[in-house]
Amino acid sequence: MPAPSTSVLLHNGLLIDGTGGEPVRDGAVLVQDGLVRWAGPTGECSVPAGTRRIDVRGDAILPGFIDCHVHMAAPGTSALSHAELATMPHTLLTFLSGPRMKQTLEAGVTTARDLGGADAGHRRAVESGLLVGPRLLVAVSMLSPTGGHGDFRAGNDRRPSANGMARLADGIAECRNAVREVLRQGADCVKIAATGGVWSPTDQPDDDGFLEDEIRTITQIAAGHRGKKVAAHAQGRDGILNAVRGGVASIEHGYEIDDEAIDLMLAQGTFLVPTLSTANTDPDPAKAAPWAYAKKKHWQEVARRHIPRAIERGVRVAMGTDCGIAEHGTNLRELGYLVECGMTPMGAVLAGTSEAAELLGRAGEIGTLEPGKRADIVIARGNPLEDIGSLGDPANVLLVMKDGVTYKDTDTLTA
Ligand SMILES: [Zn+2]
Repeated sequence: MPAPSTSVLLHNGLLIDGTGGEPVRDGAVLVQDGLVRWAGPTGECSVPAGTRRIDVRGDAILPGFIDCHVHMAAPGTSALSHAELATMPHTLLTFLSGPRMKQTLEAGVTTARDLGGADAGHRRAVESGLLVGPRLLVAVSMLSPTGGHGDFRAGNDRRPSANGMARLADGIAECRNAVREVLRQGADCVKIAATGGVWSPTDQPDDDGFLEDEIRTITQIAAGHRGKKVAAHAQGRDGILNAVRGGVASIEHGYEIDDEAIDLMLAQGTFLVPTLSTANTDPDPAKAAPWAYAKKKHWQEVARRHIPRAIERGVRVAMGTDCGIAEHGTNLRELGYLVECGMTPMGAVLAGTSEAAELLGRAGEIGTLEPGKRADIVIARGNPLEDIGSLGDPANVLLVMKDGVTYKDTDTLTA
């Protein structure tokens, strides 16, 4: 792994800095000691002596992207069945997540929030340099009521639930215990099931998950631990409302979001993470159980009807893909899907950069190319604002830098 060079100027690029300002032709970013020191028109930069100059040949310079919803421990569509996953040793699940983390970074994602499955060890493996991957924030396990989205037992299974992805809790007392338990295990954020879901066998996406009082208990306890935020898996309308009223920071999926929820979310600043990548992934009828296949097809349609309205009305949107359910390494396809739902290409880029950083509570550190931010940088072929879909092909992500260290360099720009 190359050591961060003391001072590097990436120049002759189309600079899209993540602030939403006009793109700068012949833009440049000056990187020093892992941080952005300066960004703007190349001609205006006072370049320190000894700086390495890297000509990016007119391609786009963007902040590293942020995926607010991944599951590194889940296989993606390259289908392992639930039965295979259920019998797999935890160590193997963890080893399998290593290559996926590298693939995610190489797709242009320099920070990712894992909402179930990855634990603090995944985060620390990246921080220590043991594994190559995006900077991780982890939820450890999704909290879910019995029979809810985190309960993968079949209806005839009377054994207590034990799976790595979720932790079951019912009522205020158990919710208190469960949230404190994931915080104890090093969770950076908390994931809850506010509705049922597609892949859980005994519920429906419009069944309620946790009720409002349970959710409020969880958000209160998380907030009291250095302001940690709660992300709610919420697909059906009523559960979305329970979660927003309970004070969550983000609605994940939000497929049946309506005007009442939109009004509340606008008033409270709640984010929507629409995970269109998974909504747009067609289930494989040969591999998905018939009940899961039917739910998925129906809820894809629900999402296509409701998400554009939320975007049109200006709900804050952060990029999240649900990769792990969707295919790993295709994260930036989400930007194209957001544009299909009515967002501008610039709006989609912001959803994947500065808005996502806001949702993660890390806007002081990441999400834009401004002085003092971490040098998380993507060089992408051409002008993504004219062809947002191009970012979805990792081959168009030419260079990925995280904390000033280059991890991918297709055209050997930095050689
Ligand atoms: Zn998910």
